[in-house]
Amino acid sequence: MSRFFSKKYENLTPYTPGEQPQDMQYIKLNTNESPFPPHPAVAEAVKQEVESLRLYSDPDCKALVAKLAKQYGVAPEQVMLTNGSDDVLNFAFMAFCDEEHPAVFPDITYGFYKVFAEINHIPYAQIPLKEDFSVDVADYCGVNKTVFIANPNAPTGIALSLDEIEKILKSNPNNVVVIDEAYVDFGAQSAVALVEKYENLLVVQTFSKSRSMAGARLGFAIGNKNLMADLNTLRYSTNPYNINRMTSVAGIVTLENQAYTDKNCGIIMENRENAAKALKKLGFALTDSKSNFLFASHPAIDGKTLYTELKRRGILVRHFDKPRISPYVRITVGTAEQMDALIRTIGEILEENQ
Ligand code: PMP
Repeated sequence: MSRFFSKKYENLTPYTPGEQPQDMQYIKLNTNESPFPPHPAVAEAVKQEVESLRLYSDPDCKALVAKLAKQYGVAPEQVMLTNGSDDVLNFAFMAFCDEEHPAVFPDITYGFYKVFAEINHIPYAQIPLKEDFSVDVADYCGVNKTVFIANPNAPTGIALSLDEIEKILKSNPNNVVVIDEAYVDFGAQSAVALVEKYENLLVVQTFSKSRSMAGARLGFAIGNKNLMADLNTLRYSTNPYNINRMTSVAGIVTLENQAYTDKNCGIIMENRENAAKALKKLGFALTDSKSNFLFASHPAIDGKTLYTELKRRGILVRHFDKPRISPYVRITVGTAEQMDALIRTIGEILEENQ
């Protein structure tokens, strides 16, 4: 820390992103990226756009917003785009939390929520998940705070039903409820269906997972148009050109090829179920994941050892050295070949550890 660093941030613990090592070719199952490339038409569209890079991008991203609005059956004023969904989550903390509206989220969830609360000096509470890692909906009913729930949750993969989300929305009419749907396309129900009914609902999604665009950085929010106006006030006060031209056209072409995204999600879900079965056979305990990752623990090997042994053999998974979840590893679901290699390698490690 330099002596010039603002006292405001001296206690800030930044988010730790998953490793992106360059030293060798790993089977990379640690950051929930898609194993599939973007649709081939994306490359062509991005190439065409290069000539226009001398011009600023459209701050309203009208063409992409219109396409998203159509796909989700909402008005364009109900959609806002950001540089990855991390960006809109940060805006949501800035816009809808303060001393009167502290933030609340589970003790085990996406690690960035805590960081966003801290960087914005927002008071927050963390509610423990139940023993089985599910969210106890009753804990959030009438909680009178700004609620942040990842659905499905990360790193557990467990999803809430729309009925359960509706209970939270109904019982907190004076607070915004943010539903982070980064992984919703892998088998959970989207709360976008509820945005007309609840003015306090903000749904956040991303192109990073199901749409194979983690490196392009594209996220969005859907909700009541007044919430979008608030978020846009903050976006225009920081970086109105937050979506670059190449990402914008990549997003448009990706939406035009929805069948490709749907097909890839189908494959991931099938690979997830097959890998879950194989891991159970090896003695693992797993949560009921509705996302593109598995969360698994084994009685004979702790999470950190399994992570280290897999890495040594060229397979990267994610381990969180945190209370309650340190026995677990989070495994991104990849191609069938990648999952076969993972299962084979885990089998070898377990045998050696006997
Ligand atoms: N929400 C959750 C629950 C996530 O796991 C992630 C990815 N790490 C994000 C949001 C942010 O993803 P992105 O910024 O790539 O859209």
